[in-house]
Amino acid sequence: MKKVHILLKQHIGNISTPIVKVGDKVQKGQLIAQAYGLGANIHSSVSGTVIAINNEVIIEAAEKQPKDYIKLKKMDTKLEMIKQAGIVGAGGAGFPTDVKFASDITNGVVIINAAECEPLLHHNIKYIEENTEEFVKGIVHAIDITKAKQAYVAIKTKHKNAIINLAKKIKMIDNIKIKFLPDIYPAGDERVIIRELLGVILNPGELPIKANAIVSNVETIKNIKRAINDRKPVITKDITVGGKLKSGTSETVYFDVPIGVNVGEYIDKAGGKSPWGEEILIGGPFTGVSGDYNTPITKTTGGIFVGIEFPQIKKKFGLIECECGATADRLTEIVEKMGGEVVAVQRCKRMKLVNGRYRCEKPGVCPGQASTVIKLKTDGAEAILTGTWQDWTNTVMKVAPRLGVKILHSTDHVLRASDHKLYRKSD
Ligand code: SF4
Repeated sequence: MKKVHILLKQHIGNISTPIVKVGDKVQKGQLIAQAYGLGANIHSSVSGTVIAINNEVIIEAAEKQPKDYIKLKKMDTKLEMIKQAGIVGAGGAGFPTDVKFASDITNGVVIINAAECEPLLHHNIKYIEENTEEFVKGIVHAIDITKAKQAYVAIKTKHKNAIINLAKKIKMIDNIKIKFLPDIYPAGDERVIIRELLGVILNPGELPIKANAIVSNVETIKNIKRAINDRKPVITKDITVGGKLKSGTSETVYFDVPIGVNVGEYIDKAGGKSPWGEEILIGGPFTGVSGDYNTPITKTTGGIFVGIEFPQIKKKFGLIECECGATADRLTEIVEKMGGEVVAVQRCKRMKLVNGRYRCEKPGVCPGQASTVIKLKTDGAEAILTGTWQDWTNTVMKVAPRLGVKILHSTDHVLRASDHKLYRKSD
């Protein structure tokens, strides 16, 4: 019998309070934990029996699962339905959607983030292609709730089928428009989207509301539609699985995966981990974190990838951090897996301390890093691992070899596993 592990904190804010106890029988869609302050309700993704509660509710799933789910109660407002459903930003941030959508943006714009900007992820675009009508219904709700004058779907021109399908569905709807994003990383960053679509430059730490806008992910819009029209709580997640699999290296999209199921089940469904596969990465290649077969799927899990074996490089490493790339902790983890030692850490020079957190001044407008490379070399680095992207290939790659420093990128083992064009040999 299958167990699901439903985390009590899958969002920004406080851990949710369980309202079931060990031994309780629960049904699919039943509320099992309530939001506490800033947070989100949590519902069971299966019918079964609660067998343990700590920072997660572990449920032994019944052999036979119902197709239907316990429907949400009818509420007076759409915002209350969203809150009851436990919707949070599905793109990875996990911010409670009822709080974000409570902002008044009369005459403003609600922007649907369809950038899917981490390489290898495909589930948002595939959803738009195959479920255009449902997607548009969600956008109409978003306009209604926020009182926005207009909705923009922010998408890259390369996603032609999604654009064509969407254009057909919205041709009679005046207040929904398609807007194009550059094909860069991190095009999906909220401040990049606001800059590209509205021409407003937000400072580090400033939110889209300053530009009278709300930015929301594609799957969040899908969940809004389902909460309002189908009275469905958030009990599933769309995911992309790929990397070094026995079945090959192409990615597979799975829609409506029950939350709490372990990622290993979907790696196996997609073909199984290749003997040459090593790390399991949860999330996108740039910002993902390492996990294992038993890591549970949450409301914000997007990608599940198997990386190739780490090369063994027993050198002294310098790190270059980027706000939109791997953190110093993640870079250190990769260095250790390669058998190296971290001797120095630098941040991209555009990262500034704002309210206790380092943030990028101009996401996607990346500077040269020559001086950073020289500092790391001076501090004893024989090799550099970087989490930055746009310009590191032009500057770091040119400077580092001249200084006799080997250069690697935090995404190498995943992009290489997938033969992705963004992977570049370091030397
Ligand atoms: S400017 Fe620096 S911190 Fe910002 S996205 Fe580019 S590399 Fe990262």
